[in-house]
Amino acid sequence: MEHNNKPIVKLISKPENMLKTVYTACRTCYSADYPINIYEAADDEEKMLKLIGRVISSGHYSTIEHIQVSFAISNVSRACTHQLVRHRHMSFSQKSQRYVKEKGQFDYLIPPTIEKNPELREKFVDFMSEISDKYQEFVEAGIPAEDARAVLPNATATSMVASLNLREMIHLANLRLCTRAQYEIRTLVKMMCEELWAAEPWLKPYLVPKCESIGFCDEDKSCGRKPKLEEITK
Ligand SMILES: Cc1cc2nc3c(=O)[nH]c(=O)nc-3n(C[C@H](O)[C@H](O)[C@H](O)COP(=O)(O)OP(=O)(O)OC[C@H]3O[C@@H](n4cnc5c(N)ncnc54)[C@H](O)[C@@H]3O)c2cc1C
Repeated sequence: MEHNNKPIVKLISKPENMLKTVYTACRTCYSADYPINIYEAADDEEKMLKLIGRVISSGHYSTIEHIQVSFAISNVSRACTHQLVRHRHMSFSQKSQRYVKEKGQFDYLIPPTIEKNPELREKFVDFMSEISDKYQEFVEAGIPAEDARAVLPNATATSMVASLNLREMIHLANLRLCTRAQYEIRTLVKMMCEELWAAEPWLKPYLVPKCESIGFCDEDKSCGRKPKLEEITK
C-alpha cells in the first residue's frame, strides 16, 4: 500500500522538569550551593531562561546533555532513516527487514517531485508493484526475508523509535532544518521540533536552522535566508 507522504511523529518520552533540570545544571557551575537546593528553589522562569541562554551561547553544552527525549516515528522512507542514523549521538530501534516479512505490497513513500507528475507517478507506482511481486516470488521460493529485502527500494516505508539528548536535538535541528537538507528529513525533523515546542515552548529559539543561530549561511549553495559570511565581513 502506498502511503500519504507525511511522516507520523510523536514525542513519547521527555523529563518532567526539563527547564529546571537544565537551569540546575547551569547554575551549579557558578554556585557554592548544593544542586538539590538550586533545583528546589528554582521558580523564576525568566531568570532560568536568561541564565540558560547565556550558558548555551557560551558553548557550555554539557548542561543540555542531561535531557533525553524519545520519538515514535513511522511512515518515513529507508532513504530518510539512512540519513537520520548518520547522527552518532542518537539511539535507534528500527523495524527489521530481517524479522518482519513484507506481506503483499510493501508500504512506500512517493517523493513529491514524482507525486506531482501524473505520468511519472504512474510509472513509479507500477514499478513498486513489480518489485513487490519479485520480493514475494523470492520469499515464496524459500529465500529468507533478510536476503529477499535486497530488492526493496529506498522508498520502502519504515518505523523507528529514536532518542537523543537536547544537545544533539539542537544540532539535528541546526543541520536538518536547513533548506539544503532533503525535503523528507527536513519535514521529519520539523515535526520532531514541533512536538518538542508544544511540550516545552522555551526551546523554540534553539530548534532552528544553523543560519539562524550563527547569523550567516555557511553552505556552498545558499537559499538566501541569511547572507553568506563573506558578505558580512566584506
Ligand atoms: C545538507 C546535508 C548534506 C549531506 N550530504 C552528505 C553526503 O553527500 N554524503 C555523506 O556521506 N553524508 C552527507 N551528509 C551527512 C553529514 O556528513 C553528517 O554525517 C551528518 O549530517 C551528521 O552530522 P554530524 O557528524 O555533525 O552529527 P552527529 O553525528 O550528530 O555528531 C554531532 C557532533 O558530534 C561531534 N562528533 C561526532 N562524532 C565525532 C567524531 N567521530 N569525531 C569528532 N567529532 C565527532 C561533531 O562535532 C558533530 O558535529 C549530509 C548532511 C547534510 C545536513
